Amino acid sequence: MPTTCASCNENAILKRPKTGDALCKECFYFAFEEEIHHTIVNADLLQRGETIAIGASGGKDSTVLAYMMKLLNDRYDYGVNLVLLSVDEGITGYRDDSLETVKRNQVQYDLPLKIISYEELYGWTMDAIVKQIGLKNNCTFCGVFRRQALDRGALLLKVDKIATGHNADDIAETVIMNVLRGDIGRLRRCTAITTGTDGALPRCKPFKYTYEKEIVMYAYFKNLDYFSTECIYSPNAYRGFARAYIKDVEKIRPSAIIDIIHSGESLSVKKEVRMPVQGVCERCGYISSNPVCKACVMLEGLNKGLPRLGIGKTHKERRKMNEMLSEQGDSSASSSLSDMSSLGESLSNKPCDRSGCACLNKSAQSVTVLQTDQSGNNIRDRAGQLRCCSGDNQSGCCRNSQPATGEKTVLEKLSIFNKAKKPVIDF
Ligand code: SF4
Ligand code: ZN
Repeated sequence: MPTTCASCNENAILKRPKTGDALCKECFYFAFEEEIHHTIVNADLLQRGETIAIGASGGKDSTVLAYMMKLLNDRYDYGVNLVLLSVDEGITGYRDDSLETVKRNQVQYDLPLKIISYEELYGWTMDAIVKQIGLKNNCTFCGVFRRQALDRGALLLKVDKIATGHNADDIAETVIMNVLRGDIGRLRRCTAITTGTDGALPRCKPFKYTYEKEIVMYAYFKNLDYFSTECIYSPNAYRGFARAYIKDVEKIRPSAIIDIIHSGESLSVKKEVRMPVQGVCERCGYISSNPVCKACVMLEGLNKGLPRLGIGKTHKERRKMNEMLSEQGDSSASSSLSDMSSLGESLSNKPCDRSGCACLNKSAQSVTVLQTDQSGNNIRDRAGQLRCCSGDNQSGCCRNSQPATGEKTVLEKLSIFNKAKKPVIDF
């Protein structure tokens, strides 16, 4: 005999992972959507008139988030403007395909889309980084670069807030990872539904209490268009371990995910525990608890052909990196993160080959990005990059795909980080 829906008299077709209730499709949709609406309202996540950038990767979480934000904004008249913001890490066979999904979502949900790439920001794609460092620490580079890329993209769009698709499972995993690492600073803030409120760009997580299984179920029954292939450079082993651990615990105690989040929320840190002091990177102006932020350190290692120094796991490596950074001293103090990608450039007379470059200075000498590692091997001729400026954008070109006359270039807009006197973004 068919089971009856716990909310109406229809036949149930699913059992909700979060509550165990047997529900019909419509009642599941309603319960799922209302819970997210309550999360948004109770935590006061959105203010009328704000512009919200939805971090969109084309995966299930961000696709459901975009769909849900649009649906609830219309249904409950939040009065916010929504835009999709994607980061292109430069992973052939993965991100290029998932971005095609985002482009379809843009049409399906009728939302503007901005894509910002690692290549554009850092001069490196993940494909090139993996060629340099292999598959061991690639996710460390990728994670650090992505966080900044999303913030920088959002600043370019002049949005008020970023909404991300982090779900309850992600947050529970992060709590466990921070416990295992003894990272008290992150442990204290990783359960916050909004971070960065003391800076210019807050980030919020409308799916903080939403189970991953229910997101998949919703996307499946609603037939949403999302990309489900794993990154070719995964797995991120450490998070995978935390995930497997929580799945095991969940089998014995189904409420484990929410319980871990509640535990994280209730933790208080002793006054005597020293927390990292947040300042700004002296090179790029991004928030950092060290004089030079992690992304700038990693870029320095990559550009010098010594990427392991950017990870700096050993005392010797960290010392060498500090020496390298201090050698550049004053001359680099005012340089931006992207200036560093021009290290080792040489001049040629060929025209700029950057796609979409609207440079007014095409006849000027171009730049061939040629950099050698310690053994003299060329490590930066991936695209035979020829630039019509030296990478410092002095001729108003290269980094901006289509700069209109009088409009600020990407680098000029990003210099907001350099001018910031206070931390602008929390993470
Ligand atoms: Fe980047 Fe690693 Fe995620 Fe791939 S699995 S997108 S390399 S963080
Ligand atoms: Zn920096």
